[in-house]
Amino acid sequence: MNQVIENAREIITGYDGPKLRIMEVCGTHTHEIFRLGIRSLLPENIDLISGPGCPVCVTPVGYIDEAIYLALEKKCVICTFGDLIKVPGTKMSLAGARTEGADVRPVYSPDDAVELARETSKQVVFLAVGFETTTPSACIAVKKAQRLGLTNFSILTANKTMPNAYAQLKGSADAFLYPGHVNAITGNEICKKLKEEGVSGVVAGFTANELMTALAVTIELSKKGEPFFENCYPRVVKDEGNPAAQKLVDTVMEPCDSEWRGLGIIPMSGMKLRGEYSDFDARVKHNVPTIEGKSNPACRCPEILQGHCKPTDCPLFGKVCNPIHPVGACMVSDEGACAAYYHYGSSIGVEI
Ligand code: SF4
Repeated sequence: MNQVIENAREIITGYDGPKLRIMEVCGTHTHEIFRLGIRSLLPENIDLISGPGCPVCVTPVGYIDEAIYLALEKKCVICTFGDLIKVPGTKMSLAGARTEGADVRPVYSPDDAVELARETSKQVVFLAVGFETTTPSACIAVKKAQRLGLTNFSILTANKTMPNAYAQLKGSADAFLYPGHVNAITGNEICKKLKEEGVSGVVAGFTANELMTALAVTIELSKKGEPFFENCYPRVVKDEGNPAAQKLVDTVMEPCDSEWRGLGIIPMSGMKLRGEYSDFDARVKHNVPTIEGKSNPACRCPEILQGHCKPTDCPLFGKVCNPIHPVGACMVSDEGACAAYYHYGSSIGVEI
C-alpha cells in the first residue's frame, strides 16, 4: 500500500465525529469506490450516498419513448451508446423496439453516427445524452454533418449540466464529491460559488489514490464545521476549465429547462441546439410529439438519485430487477447505483 493511501486510510477509518453524509455525484465514482473496496473501509458514521451523475440513470422515460417513436414510426436508424438500449421506456426499451423491427445500433461516439449517415440514405438519429463531458463531442458531430452537407443526420438532445442540479440537491448531503471530468470542462467557479452558499465539496479524480485522498480531505475539512471547497484533482482540473470546449458548446447549443429522472424539471439544466442548427434537431426535423413517459411505479430510482434511499431499500432489488432484466435505469448502466450494489455489494454485506 502506498503512503498516500495509507495516510488517507488512517483518516477515513479513524473518523469518530458526528454522522457525515457524503454524496458521490458521479456514477463513475460510485462504480470505482465500490470496485476498489473503499466502501468496506468506511466507519458507520460515514454514509456514502449515490447521486444523479449517471447519464443513463437521469435520462427520463419520455426520452426513451421519443427515441422509440423515431425508430418505429419514422423509421430512423437510432445510434446510441450501448447502455441506453436496455433502459425501459413506458412500454418497452429500445431493445424491445428492435424485436418490432427498429434499427437500433450501438456506437462508440457521435462521429460513428455521422459516418453512418454518409453511407446510407436513411435518416440517422444520434441519442445525445450525458453531461458536460460528452456534450462537446455531440457538438463536433453536428458541425461535421453541417460541413458535409448531410441532410439525413440529427441528434435527439437530453444533454445535461450539473450546476443547477447541485442547487437542487442542496441539503441531500453534508458534502459532495464533485466529478473531476465535469470540472475539467466547466472549471471550479460553480463549486466556489456553492461554497459561498454553504455547500461543501471536493473535486475528486478516479484512481484509488485520488478517491481516497478526496474522502480524507472531505473528512478533515468537515471537522472545521465551515463550508469548504478543495480541488483534489489538480493534475486534470484547472480553475478555468477547458475554454475551447466551453466555446464550442456555446456556439452550437444553448441552455434549456430539462427533465431529470427523479429530480423533475430543473430550470436551465439542459442543453439544446441553437436555432441555426435546428436542421440537426431530431425533434424539429421529425416532428416528434410531446411524449410523457411513465416509469414502473415500484422502481425507486427517483429516490435513489436524490440520495433519499439506497438500492437495497427497493423491494425489487436483485430479485425482480437485476442487470439482465433491469426494471429501472439505475440497474442498467455500470455507473448506476443499483448495478454497482448488485455487482459489488457483497463487499459491504449486501445479500442477493
Ligand atoms: Fe429501480 Fe431496479 Fe433500482 Fe429498484 S433495484 S430502484 S427497480 S433500478
